[in-house]
Amino acid sequence: MDTFECETVVIGAGVVGLAVARALALAGMEPLILEKNAQFGEETSARNSEVIHAGIYYDAGSAKARHCVDGRERLYAHCARHGIAHRRCGKLIVATDAAESAKLDAIAARAAANGVDDLCRVDGAQARSMEPALRVDAALHSPSTGIVDSHAFMLSLLGEAEANGAQMVLHAPVEGGAVQPDGRIELRTGGAEPMRLIARHVVNAAGLWAQAVAARIEGLPAPPPNALVKGSYFALRGRSPFSRLIYPVPRDGGLGVHLTLDMAGRAKFGPDTEWLETRDPAAIDYTVDPARGAGFTEAIRRYWPALPDGALDADYAGVRPKIAGDAYPDFRIEGPDAHGLAGHVMLYGVESPGLTASLSIAEAVRDALRA
Ligand SMILES: Cc1cc2nc3c(=O)[nH]c(=O)nc-3n(C[C@H](O)[C@H](O)[C@H](O)COP(=O)(O)OP(=O)(O)OC[C@H]3O[C@@H](n4cnc5c(N)ncnc54)[C@H](O)[C@@H]3O)c2cc1C
Repeated sequence: MDTFECETVVIGAGVVGLAVARALALAGMEPLILEKNAQFGEETSARNSEVIHAGIYYDAGSAKARHCVDGRERLYAHCARHGIAHRRCGKLIVATDAAESAKLDAIAARAAANGVDDLCRVDGAQARSMEPALRVDAALHSPSTGIVDSHAFMLSLLGEAEANGAQMVLHAPVEGGAVQPDGRIELRTGGAEPMRLIARHVVNAAGLWAQAVAARIEGLPAPPPNALVKGSYFALRGRSPFSRLIYPVPRDGGLGVHLTLDMAGRAKFGPDTEWLETRDPAAIDYTVDPARGAGFTEAIRRYWPALPDGALDADYAGVRPKIAGDAYPDFRIEGPDAHGLAGHVMLYGVESPGLTASLSIAEAVRDALRA
């Protein structure tokens, strides 16, 4: 087996791993990106809503709030610079009765605490003038919410990383490793051409597998327990009656069945929330159960009563990389402060808004490696 010494390894070529690799490449750290699959971005980064979130709902001061608001502006600027398809289409948070309308001010206050200062409250008539198909009592309009072609975004990250000294190795699953006495980490990869690598800096951006990867590196503290939460989508047959994203007022801690659009104008509803019994990403079944459609129809008709019968098709699903038992779920960007090992960063719980936040998370990882 060949042994290589290298400066920096990024494990995982999802949107976060690629954003980190780009930031490290731009800082002259020549990262090697190890990806177990045949292509980059085939897992959670290909199974999400592609929404550029404004940063409205997260707890004030949380990593999600900070990196979403900062990452959103970086993402819009990056898309403009690189000609990546995106649209600042805006979104409406729709209250369908007086009880829900009473909650809008609290949502706006939370957003303001996160630095989202462009929300605008509109009454039912104003909301219907924007989106005539809505059943609505009052709404919040978020003009800085948008959508992006996430694959094109990832391709641009990889291109910029490689142009600045990064290299990606596909079919290179990290199977184990050990912290060395000098603080470097030895990694062993499997696949057809196994390698042994010794790296000064390791960033674990393995998404759903981040805990499994960390648990296989001897000398790292035990990772936080993971949980897997599936979100299924249903696609709308035919033309969308909406030109903005439509979200109900959140209830029971979830965002509710919302409508998002893709760059082709196709509308889809979801994701819903299904806690999986398994904690093993290898055991995930990504198929969407058509029986869940009845619950979608009921939820959607609260704000869009004219949804025709039989207009929803089971589409795709993604799975949120949660941390089990977290009362305040947040991104965990664990550098030396958390695990005591200089030069290495573990990323856990990077669920939504991880796509929006990726460029900001990447800056934080670069700074943690340099500290
Ligand atoms: C249903 C759903 C909807 C979402 N919607 C949005 C949204 O609209 N907007 C938003 O901002 N965010 C959204 N998110 C969040 C966003 O998709 C994620 O935060 C983001 O994609 C995470 O990227 P990642 O690179 O951390 O993980 P991933 O995309 O999962 O990438 C991890 C990579 O690591 C690789 N890997 C794993 N183990 C190994 C190993 N041992 N060796 C080598 N490689 C390995 C995997 O193959 C994979 O390519 C959503 C998430 C879900 C689940």
